[in-house]
Parts: sequence; C-alpha cells; structure tokens
Amino acid sequence: MGLFKNIKDIYKKVSEVESSIYAEKQDYLEIYERNLQLEKEIEERTKELNIANKRMLTLQHIWDMMNASRPLQSVLETIVNSIQGELGYLHCNIIKRCEDENGIYMTVLAQSNDVSIKRVENLIKIPLTARKLAFNTQSVYARTAQSKNIELTLDIGGTLKSVVPDVSDEIIKEIVDGSPSRSIINVPLFTRNNHFGWFNVFSSRDELTEGETDFLTIFAQQIEMAITIAGLFEEVKAQAVTDGLTGLYNRRYFEEYLKKEVTRAVRQRQPFSIIGLDLDHLKQINDQYGHAFGDLAIKTVADVLKKNARSIDTAARMGGEEFNVILPAVDSKGAMIAAERIRKALESVKLDTIDHVTASIGVATFLEHSDSIEDILELTDQAMYQSKRNGRNQVTLAKPINETSWQEIAVNTFFDILSKHNIPINQNTADELRQILNADDGSKDALYMVADMLTQTYNPLHHNGVMKSKVLLAVSLAKRFDLPKEEIDNLRIAMLLYDIGNLMLPQELLQKTTPLTEDEKNRIKTHPIIAAREILKPISAIQDVIPIIEHHHENWDGTGYPAHIAREEIPMTSQIVLIVDAYYALTEPRTYRAELTPKQAIDVIKRDAGKKWNSALVQEFITLIDIDT
Ligand code: GH3
Ligand code: MG
Repeated sequence: MGLFKNIKDIYKKVSEVESSIYAEKQDYLEIYERNLQLEKEIEERTKELNIANKRMLTLQHIWDMMNASRPLQSVLETIVNSIQGELGYLHCNIIKRCEDENGIYMTVLAQSNDVSIKRVENLIKIPLTARKLAFNTQSVYARTAQSKNIELTLDIGGTLKSVVPDVSDEIIKEIVDGSPSRSIINVPLFTRNNHFGWFNVFSSRDELTEGETDFLTIFAQQIEMAITIAGLFEEVKAQAVTDGLTGLYNRRYFEEYLKKEVTRAVRQRQPFSIIGLDLDHLKQINDQYGHAFGDLAIKTVADVLKKNARSIDTAARMGGEEFNVILPAVDSKGAMIAAERIRKALESVKLDTIDHVTASIGVATFLEHSDSIEDILELTDQAMYQSKRNGRNQVTLAKPINETSWQEIAVNTFFDILSKHNIPINQNTADELRQILNADDGSKDALYMVADMLTQTYNPLHHNGVMKSKVLLAVSLAKRFDLPKEEIDNLRIAMLLYDIGNLMLPQELLQKTTPLTEDEKNRIKTHPIIAAREILKPISAIQDVIPIIEHHHENWDGTGYPAHIAREEIPMTSQIVLIVDAYYALTEPRTYRAELTPKQAIDVIKRDAGKKWNSALVQEFITLIDIDT
C-alpha cells in the first residue's frame, strides 16, 4: 500500500512536474510568440518612424531654406523636387491663381524635374510653365478653392484638358495612357486668408490614406509659409533704408531725409551743404581687375565717408558709384573743407591690387547757391562734372547759375545727357563725346563737334559744321529783333538741343523712306515734348531754354504743335528756331527727297509767310540769307 501510495505519489509528482513543464512550455511559447509579435511591431514602428523622420527632414530642409531667405522661386522648386521621388510621388507642381481683365487663369510656379513632365512637354509642345492655364469652374481646381479641402481625382485626362483646352483629345489620351499616374491629389493653398493657388501631386495609387492627407496638409502649410515669408521679405526689402553692399543709406532714405532737412533749413534760415562724389574710372577698374575689385572700390568710398563724416552728417549711396553727403548747418566754406578731407582720405587708402582709388567731388549749398533743392542737386552734379573735366580727383564748388557762360551751361548739359543711362546712346559713342568735351579748351569747337555728332546718331545725313552755322544764323536773326543778351544765350543753347527728343524715337521711324502714316507722324511730333519733359527737365541751368524747345514747332497761325499757340504767344526765340531749322532741313538731302538750293528753299519758306511764320520774320530772314549767300 505504502508502495502503491508512493507510486501514486510519484505519478502525481511526475504529472505535476509534467504539467508544470507543460505550463512553462506554454509560457515559453507565449513569450516567444509575443516576442515575435513585438519584433514585428518594432519593425513596423521603426518603418513608420523612418518615414516620419524623412518627412521631418524634408520639412526641416524647407524651413532652413526659408530662413536663409532664398528667393521664393528657388524655395518652391526645392519643395516640389523634395516631395517628388523621395516620398514616392511621380510628379508634383505648384500652381498660382492669377487674374486679369479677362478673368481668372493659372500659371505653373514650380514643378518637379522628372521624366513624366518631360514626356508631357514633348507631347504638348509649349511647356506648361510657359502657358497661361485655363481656370475651369467645373474643375478640381475650382472645387478645392471653394471647399478648402484636399481632393483626389482619378480623372487625370479631364483635369489636364481643363487647364490646356487647346491640346487635342488624342494627345491628352496619349499622355494619360502612357503615364504610370493613377490619380492627382489637389491641395488648395491659402496665404493670410487669400487664395494663392494649388499644390498638386501625381500618385501611382488611386486612394488617399488618412496619414497621407495629414502629411500633405502639413506640407501645404509649409508651402504657404514659404510664400508668406517671401512676401513679407519683399515688403521689408522695399522698406529698407540701407544699401546692401556698403551699409550706407540708400537713395530712398536720402530723399526722405533731404526733404526734412530742407524744411528745417527754411524754417531756421540756416544753410546746409551737399557733397556729391563719383568714383573715378570705375569702369576701367571693373574691366581691368574684375567686378570684385570694382565693389572693393565702392566699399572703400563708403568706409571713408563713414569715418570722415560727423555724426550728424548723412552719407548715402545714390546708386552705382555715386554718393551724396548732407552736411546740416554747414555753409559752402565748411563743406569745401569737409569735401577736401574726404578726397584726401580716399586717395590715401592703400588697396589690394588696385593700389588706390580717387573720386571727383562737387559741392553746393542750399540757400547760398539757390533756394530750390532741385537746383542744388543739379548744381552739385555739375560741379562734380567740372571736377571730372579738370582732371578728376578734385573738389569743385558749384557756381551760381547766373555767373555761368552759355557755353559752360551747354557743355555741362551735354555732359549731363551723355552720362544718364536712361538715354539710348551707344555707350562707346557717349564715352567718345564725353572725351571730346573733356578736352574742351574754352573755344566752342568741342561743343559744336559734340552737337553735330550727337545729331548724327539720329540723323545720319547731318553734316559736320552745320550746328555752328545754325547757331550763328539764329543769333544774327535774333539781333535784328533786338532780343536781350540772356535770351540770345538761351537761344544758342536751344539751337544745339532742339531736336534731341529724336534720340528717344525709333531709328526705323526717323529713317523711313516711304510716306509716314498718321500715327507715325503723330509719334514724330512728340519730339519737342520728349526733349522738354523727359530729357532736359531735370537740368536746372537750362530751365529758360526748355520752353523755347518745347514750342519750336508752333506755327504763326496756330496750326503747329504741341500747344497750338499762335502769333505773339509763341516765343520769338522758338519762331527763330523753327525758321532756321526749316531752312537747313530744306537745303539738306532727305531719304525721301533731294536737297534744295538756297533759292528754292527760300521760295518754299516765302510761300508760308503769314501762315507758318510771321511775315516780318520771313522778311528779315531773306535779307540775312541774301547777305550770307
Ligand atoms: P568717370 O571717372 O568718368 O566717372 O569714369 P567711370 O568709369 O567711373 O564712369 P562711368 O559712368 O563711365 O562708369 C561707371 C561704371 O560703374 C559702370 C558700372 O558698370 C560701374 N558700377 C556701377 N555700380 C557698380 C557696382 O555696384 N559694382 C561695380 N563693381 N561696378 C559698378
Ligand atoms: Mg565714375
């Protein structure tokens, strides 16, 4: 029994052990299985994390770019390229909503650079980026703009057709059939509550998961932020008051500040001075050593100005190689000392490779040289040109306008015109003409030569020497009518400049050999106004010359232009310009007719006495020509 019990016990024990082993085995199995599951889960989570990481990195990358204030275009291009490929999309683009008088249209701002787009562009010929895309109110674009929600569309062909309706259905079909894209995911973009445009991704799948929607939403927000930041950046830049290269104030600030200074000076009856500075031979430095050294020269001027200006002085870079300094409460004597100090300081800076640079400086003082600020700026400029002509690297004080000879005024005016970049003269010609003026020795030869050569740029048939004859003839005529000296001086300058408006007209028009249409005639008739209002208006020294030029095509009977004034309303000087001009025009050859003899020309002029010109003027003119010929 005891044995039996023992055996039973042993069995029991064995079965206990067995069952415990079994239980443990079960446990082990469970643990093992759980482990497997965990591993799988970890693997999945890691995969998800990796994707999330990748997305984070992409977003981070975009964020960095936005902080580096790269131009919007390049930020958007990087955005579309990073989402394409990396996240498994086939193609991606950003489209802007635009509007004009014909309504809404769209343009592609950026698109990923991939094979799909190359294929499409080969098929549709004109690339999408070069097209105005149609905005169809039935399209996915209109729907998402309205709903502000992401939408997936399987109708790739229809969507494409809606934006490029001119592309044939066959080509659209070819595009869709040959493409691995199954759907377009269209995301509307809004910036500061304005509808900006859309962000499109072309997917090889035909459904949109929840995670994908979330991600694309975040992604779209990044694009919206990039656009908003770029817009703000542009706004801030437009409000900037300093110049990027030099850190000096810019023209915008200078002009604002100058207005305030004028008000103050007038109120306190206290002068202030302006120093105008232009680097010498910067073009040569650029050409010889490269732009970096040209920039170094400009920065050097800025440093010298910063060091040598008092704390209340305002130094500004007006653009290019031109600088101005305002010296509050400083008269011309003080300003000349300051300008000379600046000149010397600049000259003595030792520079890498280019050794040193110099500048030509002009000085003018408000309330001393003029109480018009436009005059002062112009006089500063003229004084600066004078420094250039006298050999550069020097300071010149402005001369009050009434102490300047007509010849000096004329030379300075040509200098001014030839140095302005908005006047279409070939740069080499302008340089050559400026050199001739530079060599001006006080005789009038250089002046007449430049006037002749400048006329030849718009009238190739113009002869050398004609300008001088015209001026002399006009002056003789004016003397017969006892015009005062100042008026005669103004007339001389007007004679040199009256047709300068032609510089702004197209050559084809001026040289046309066939009869002109009504429109073309009217276009040519704008030349006195162009001369007066566009080219000469800013030049303060010739303000009394401008009306002579503006009215040099008015007829005695009021049938002329531009103001249609008549008889004594027309300045006598303008009448003289017209008759002298007509006489020379008739005796010069033209592309559409041969030249007339002096006698034939006089006959033509006589025919219009009392109509085109005052009979008394014609009378005097004929006697003058008789003496001359
Ligand atoms: P001048 O002594 O008669 O003033 O001769 P210049 O060569 O200085 O004058 P010009 O007006 O003929 O040429 C000015 C040149 O300055 C032309 C332009 O390319 C250059 N320039 C303007 N702004 C910059 C700039 O920011 N950097 C550099 N490197 N060059 C500039
Ligand atoms: Mg210069």
